[in-house]
Amino acid sequence: MPQLEEPTPAVLGDMSPEDFRRHGHEIIDWISDYLAHTERYPVLPPTQPGDVRAALPPTAPAHGEDFAAIFSDVKDIIAPSLTHWNHPSFFAYFAITASAPGIFGELLCAAFNVNQMLWRTAPAATELEGVALDWLRQMLGLPDTFDGLIYDTASVSTLHAIAAARENLNLDIRERGMTGRSDSLPQLRVYTSEQAHSSVEKALILLGLGQHALRKIPTDEAFRMDAAELERAIIEDTNAGALPFCVVATVGTTSTTSIDPVPAIADVCERHNLWLHVDAAYAGSAAVIPEMQSILDGCARADSLVTNPHKWLFTPFDCSILYTRRMDVLRQAFSLIPEYLKTDDTQRVMNGMDYGVQLGRRFRSLKLWMVMRYFGQEGLAARLRDHNRLGQLFTSWIKDAPDWELLAPVPFSTICFRFTPRQHDADDDIATAHLDSLNEQLMHAVNSTGAMFISHTRLHDRFALRLTIGHIRTTETHIEQAWQLLRDHAAHLNQADM
Ligand code: PLP
Repeated sequence: MPQLEEPTPAVLGDMSPEDFRRHGHEIIDWISDYLAHTERYPVLPPTQPGDVRAALPPTAPAHGEDFAAIFSDVKDIIAPSLTHWNHPSFFAYFAITASAPGIFGELLCAAFNVNQMLWRTAPAATELEGVALDWLRQMLGLPDTFDGLIYDTASVSTLHAIAAARENLNLDIRERGMTGRSDSLPQLRVYTSEQAHSSVEKALILLGLGQHALRKIPTDEAFRMDAAELERAIIEDTNAGALPFCVVATVGTTSTTSIDPVPAIADVCERHNLWLHVDAAYAGSAAVIPEMQSILDGCARADSLVTNPHKWLFTPFDCSILYTRRMDVLRQAFSLIPEYLKTDDTQRVMNGMDYGVQLGRRFRSLKLWMVMRYFGQEGLAARLRDHNRLGQLFTSWIKDAPDWELLAPVPFSTICFRFTPRQHDADDDIATAHLDSLNEQLMHAVNSTGAMFISHTRLHDRFALRLTIGHIRTTETHIEQAWQLLRDHAAHLNQADM
């Protein structure tokens, strides 16, 4: 039997408004200090696996705790064991920023807690998303034939783009699937470069196309897709009875930030009637710099393009935008409206749930809109331009240092390089293996200082150190310190090696 007696009010309800205000002020004060002095923390914590779990009780408290005790654990247990992505010497993977206006956007998003599944469930959020995407599209110099929507990550945006490309084949796959059909389907094929992000391959796994559906096209000496090879592969596959349907080009590849020749790739796609998706997850943001808009040359001809404001546009994780000229196809691929979600305004409004796998959607445009308003296009461009300047400066140091080698061109602010002390300059396998190991040790050595964090990749089968500049508070001093640390530790390792 349900309990009918009313519980005492003290055991119900949320934190009181007074307490919320008091703790809220404390938290904002703390965040303000954190952002001003992130460098008090090591970028990479000395934490060992299991440390954090061991410091916390194995079960939840039966009775609620005072918020001061909870926040204390955040400061004493959680923060010291985080890798600090908001640290100006975070140079690994792609450096990102949760800027102040973006953090406010996240806070308000949590406070409103709207679910943007339908226009009706979040009218302002739905329309603000349209406004924010339109503003950014104009900043990037993309034509108004592109509409779009926000997902969490580029991996998910690309998954949706390839699903739309498949839907565009009109093979009845949405209804009849790909297996157990009386008319067996040909092998469907997607093309991308050997430098493309693994999210393309994962999308094919998830869409049931399988990894064999992907053909990785070789790249040139600057790690850009070879468009002639692409066309050759498409013709070869078609002649062999396969069905090419989509090409994913990359503007800003993950390892070296190379830019595929999108105009030539668009020509190939048009000739063979293939969907062109552009992965500009990282570098798309650089097109807010007016003199760099040519990085998106040819992208107006793409069917879809993903760019991540959470990577290089100072918007807190997560926020990925899929722009597409084919919203109708995306909708055709995903719209499925059960009775309980039917509304009578579908002809007049955009319902986000019609354009993807998920029903519920976060109000992500708020933080992006706040970031764009607070910094303005010129402010955003100035900051990105400065990152590129710092990237070129670091590149010049590498080029001028006799014991160091640049391993790829630097179109933006990501530098791939390695330490090559003279006694190891032979180009045989033993020397390569030795340099790989030396550089790997160097990476671990500088990272373990906690003063900086870089990552690595492999280029032409050589271990490459990779330093990327993209945090809003990174200055020349930070990269000077990084360069000094690298040289000091390299000298030390080399000495031990002799
Ligand atoms: N595409 C490129 C070019 C990337 O560099 C990355 C991640 O670094 C991704 C896609 C995947 O991004 P996300 O983490 O948003 O899925």
